Amino acid sequence: MFIFAAMANEANNFAEIISHCKEYGYIFQSSELYDGLAAVYDYGQMGAQLKKNIRDAWWKSMTQLHENIVGIDAAIFMHPIVWKASGHVDSFSDPMIDNKDSNKRYRVDHLIEGHVEQLAVDKEALGKEILANMDALLAANDYTGLKKLIEDNNIKCSISKTCNWTDIREFNLMFNTKIGSVTDEADTIYLRPETAQGIFVNFLNVQKSGRMKIPFGIAQTGKAFRNEIVARQFIFRMREFEQMEMQFFVRPGSQKKWFDYWKDERKKWHESIGIPAEKLRFHDHIKLAHYADMALDIEFEFPFGWKELEGIHSRTDFDLTQHASFSKKKIQYFDNDLNEEGKPYGNYTPYVVETSVGLDRLFLTILSLAYQNETWIKEDGTEDSRVVLKIPAKLAPTKLAILPLLKKDGLPETAKELMNECKQSFHCFYEEKDAIGKRYRRMDAIGTPFCVTIDHQTKEDNTVTIRYRDDMRQERIAVSEVRKLVEGMIK
Ligand code: ATP
Repeated sequence: MFIFAAMANEANNFAEIISHCKEYGYIFQSSELYDGLAAVYDYGQMGAQLKKNIRDAWWKSMTQLHENIVGIDAAIFMHPIVWKASGHVDSFSDPMIDNKDSNKRYRVDHLIEGHVEQLAVDKEALGKEILANMDALLAANDYTGLKKLIEDNNIKCSISKTCNWTDIREFNLMFNTKIGSVTDEADTIYLRPETAQGIFVNFLNVQKSGRMKIPFGIAQTGKAFRNEIVARQFIFRMREFEQMEMQFFVRPGSQKKWFDYWKDERKKWHESIGIPAEKLRFHDHIKLAHYADMALDIEFEFPFGWKELEGIHSRTDFDLTQHASFSKKKIQYFDNDLNEEGKPYGNYTPYVVETSVGLDRLFLTILSLAYQNETWIKEDGTEDSRVVLKIPAKLAPTKLAILPLLKKDGLPETAKELMNECKQSFHCFYEEKDAIGKRYRRMDAIGTPFCVTIDHQTKEDNTVTIRYRDDMRQERIAVSEVRKLVEGMIK
């Protein structure tokens, strides 16, 4: 049997992925009943499990496989001064521009990048020049120059189709709310826009209570909130999303070594969970954030182009120094290892290398690689097809489907015995309705890597048919082997 994946055009493919997510319980629009809330999504029964499996894989790789990294779970609400100290109150903003005719607001870099993506193939050189100019102007905070770049290239609003732009302004991305019953200024608190600050303010708590020795890391996963103006591309850019961050505390001066280490380590990790190397690339930042002395993105080739999946930043001692200054407390580490002169390194404020990946973006990465529309010619010469999610077995939400061929002759009882045994070790799904071919197709569509069918022969010789999702191969194995076989495949 020769299977060939249908080469749907990528935009269509992305639209198909979105509707597949809804149809099979992966992702729903938030508050869909009330026509939805823009850029907010709910994970359904399959999606929540896949998301958990990705999160668990990350957590294990950080906190179990690195002996010098521990995990915490800090609160979303933090003292408002945290965000003053971190620089978010004053500068967590994006340059925005409004079109005067449509009143539509754009993030300047997205507007320009969107224009470049639409340029004809023979204008590639021009596109590169525009992007290089944009990077330089952003790095210099030259908003007059950026507006001129937009006007000179006749970049239009997608709604009004005019080039009638306001000046460029900064727009803060943090959500705020009130805590307590009094509604004066002092009670304003923020929904964290990144999880990292929960780690910085707990640096001393963790270091002392865990007797951690530098270099060491603190990892955390959790929700973050940003009032994104251009909220599009499904779960790629959301207003409420989840981050998986790790702050690695190092000796000042050693940050380049650790930055290179984590750059390499993180790319390898993405490959280890099934992302092909050629779909990943590095993008060095030209404009550095106020806290960074080196920064890069790991980009993935999404169905809508190369975009940031993870950020790796060398944050210097900026955050710990700021928190020490705003809290008026000493945040330092005493390093009694000996330096080249044979003397202890002594007291210092550690430097930090951060790895920060969006869980939702990683979910979208896995899903867009997994989604395949396959057609093939059967032995009788007719065509057949299926939609399959080839999610790596170790991440798949359901690992094994247990399917009695018929609803009688004791087959369901045997199937349930197997179900009871296997569900102790991994997530199983039991189904006795519909023809077996239809049940296989449904398991393909939700990404279940293995199906086991119990038939009359099972009663005679204690064997079952196991079917492999990816190549649809089937073989007979002893029922007593099923659990071990699947366990081996999902490690
Ligand atoms: P972008 O340039 O795409 O806005 P960023 O550089 O602001 O992203 P970081 O602040 O470095 O992002 O956040 C770390 C990671 O968090 C990103 O690499 C991304 O995976 C994820 N992330 C950031 N913003 C969002 C969002 N609005 N929705 C989903 N994930 C996000």
